Amino acid sequence: MPLTLVHDSEFDLSVAHRGGANPKLKHFYGFDPAAKFQMMTPGSTHVFTVTGGDPAGCSVELDMPGVVSFLNPPEFSSVVGPNRRGTIPLDGGNVGTTNLILKDKSGKQVDKIEIRVVEQREIKVRFYNLVDDKNRQGVSLPDTDPAFQIPALNQLRDYANRIVSWQCGVSLGMTGTGVLRNLNFAQDLGNAIDINQLNIFSTSDRDDAAGFHVAFAWKIAGGHTNGITKSNVCLLDASLSGQKREITLAHEFVHFLSGSGIVNMNDHDNQENDLLFKIAPHGIMLRKDRLNKIRR
Ligand SMILES: [Zn+2]
Repeated sequence: MPLTLVHDSEFDLSVAHRGGANPKLKHFYGFDPAAKFQMMTPGSTHVFTVTGGDPAGCSVELDMPGVVSFLNPPEFSSVVGPNRRGTIPLDGGNVGTTNLILKDKSGKQVDKIEIRVVEQREIKVRFYNLVDDKNRQGVSLPDTDPAFQIPALNQLRDYANRIVSWQCGVSLGMTGTGVLRNLNFAQDLGNAIDINQLNIFSTSDRDDAAGFHVAFAWKIAGGHTNGITKSNVCLLDASLSGQKREITLAHEFVHFLSGSGIVNMNDHDNQENDLLFKIAPHGIMLRKDRLNKIRR
């Protein structure tokens, strides 16, 4: 194996929940190893290391000044893990694109990673309990069910951010106290809700401070039964819990960020460990094309 630049850290959602490591629920903080692409934000730090041999005598350089700099001088002697040598600490500077180039002791290029720095952004989210005029509601005990109180909703947002924001620099922020709000529709939404029948502007319960509206629903019509997103309105099945709820929210948030503005059943990625894989259960990884689509 040739000398290869790899990210030194990985995030594993299961480990974060104090469970066992799950290779599918892993991401590399915006690094796509196959495409050799790293997304980062100004002020963020990413440490790379070298695998595939002994990098003694190697050097690295960045080909576009000002975008990324070295937080500390790179070095190639430390042993940072099995078959991983050296540390290359990167400091996000300004919005732009640069390449991190690894050269061997003769000055020949042996690996290269494209790095794109994007501005950190925040989108405010409001969580709702969907209610229709037949007294159906997504959450049967909205005032007492612990899964829908502020701490649980904050934790849901937090974990969705660890999945999405840590890869592409767009986070979900809170409006007000973050309390669940009833979203009353003066219509019969049926036993299974068709998102195309929902007009968020028809209800005065809408939180205008929010840029992304997430309503817990009793049942969603169509193939996407865990969640569905149209423009900036998302339905989440209220019966979801734990990681499944976090991953579904993260998946739907990325549908919104990908900006199709419609219910686009085809806008999915094709690997099982992708966050945007069509069929659940799937992973949490955002790869280069998806990252660039979110931040186009
Ligand atoms: Zn989807």
